[in-house]
Amino acid sequence: MSRFFSNKFDKLEPYVPGEQPKDVKYIKLNTNESPFAPSSAVIRAAELEASRLQLYSDPDVQDICDAIAGLYGVSPDEVLPSNGSDETLNFAFMAFCDKNNPICFPDISYGFYPVFAEFNNIPYEEIPLKEDFSIDYRDYCGKGKNIVIANPNAPTGMALPLWQIEEIIKSNPDNIVIIDEAYVDFGAQSAVGLIKKYDNLIVIQTFSKSRSMAGARLGYAVACKDIINDLNTVRFSTNPYNVNRMTIACGAAAISDNDYYMSNCKTIAETREYTKKALEDMNFEVLPSKANFLFARSRNIGGKLLYEKLKQNGILIRHFEKERIKDYNRITIGTKEQMETFLDTVKKILEDNI
Ligand SMILES: *Cc1c(COP(=O)(O)O)cnc(C)c1O
Repeated sequence: MSRFFSNKFDKLEPYVPGEQPKDVKYIKLNTNESPFAPSSAVIRAAELEASRLQLYSDPDVQDICDAIAGLYGVSPDEVLPSNGSDETLNFAFMAFCDKNNPICFPDISYGFYPVFAEFNNIPYEEIPLKEDFSIDYRDYCGKGKNIVIANPNAPTGMALPLWQIEEIIKSNPDNIVIIDEAYVDFGAQSAVGLIKKYDNLIVIQTFSKSRSMAGARLGYAVACKDIINDLNTVRFSTNPYNVNRMTIACGAAAISDNDYYMSNCKTIAETREYTKKALEDMNFEVLPSKANFLFARSRNIGGKLLYEKLKQNGILIRHFEKERIKDYNRITIGTKEQMETFLDTVKKILEDNI
């Protein structure tokens, strides 16, 4: 740290992304990327748009707002486009939270929530998950604080049914409720339909997981017009060109190829269930997942050791040091072939063959 770094960041511990190794070629099951390439229309859109990169992008990101509005039956002015959904989350923390408007979220959830709270100097409360790692929605009813919940949650993969999400929103009319739906396309129920009914709801989604565009950085919020206006005030006060030309073109093309992506999500959900069963057969405890990953604990080998042994054998999964979950690993669902290799390798590790 230099002697010039502001002391407002004294307690800030930056978010640590999953490894993105540049040397060996790993089977990457550690950052919840899609194993499938973008559709050919998306690749063509990127090539075409590259020839126009001397021009600024559209600050209204109209093509994306229109495409999302069409997909979900909302109005384009109920959509906020962003550079990945992490940016929308940060905008929402900035716009609606402060010393007098604290936020709460589960103790085991997306690692960025406490970072955004620290970064923006917002008091936050971490509400423990139940013993079985589920969220008790009643912990959030009538809470009287802003709330952010990932549904499905990460890294557990477990989802709340829509009626419980609605109870949380309904019982906190004077607070913002953010539902982070990064993984919703893999089998959970979306709350997007509720934005017409509740003016305190923000639904956040991303092209990173279900639409094979993690590297393009495209996310969005869906909420009532007034909330979107507030988020746009923050967006235009920080980075009005937050979504670049190539990403806008790719995102619009991806929405027009929606069937391709939804079919990939279905394949991933099937491979997830296959992998879950195979792990259970090898004496793992596996949480019920509605996401593109599994959260699992071996009854025979520690989480960290399994992670290390897999890495030595060319497979990356995610291990978290946090006490409550240190025996678990988060395993992204890849192609069926990748998962067969993963399962074979786990089997050999357990048999002490490698
Ligand atoms: C991956 C993820 C995001 C953000 O992804 P972006 O790539 O920034 O869109 C947000 N929330 C959760 C829970 C995630 O896992």
